[in-house]
Amino acid sequence: MSSSFYNIMPPSSMPIPQPKQADSDKTMPVPGRRCAACLLEKGDTVWVIPGNRCPQCGTSVN
Ligand SMILES: [Zn+2]
Repeated sequence: MSSSFYNIMPPSSMPIPQPKQADSDKTMPVPGRRCAACLLEKGDTVWVIPGNRCPQCGTSVN
């Protein structure tokens, strides 16, 4: 079988869709990350600013 048909390159002028960066966290109402320890142990969602410690359990969140 000849697969040359699939070797055709798309025209360079064709706009290539660029995947958006994962900046969904910036659009969230609460800036920060969820404390995994509280989520696992208590089932609570505690928001922690990256670089700080969780106010509930003191786990550092990066
Ligand atoms: Zn915590």
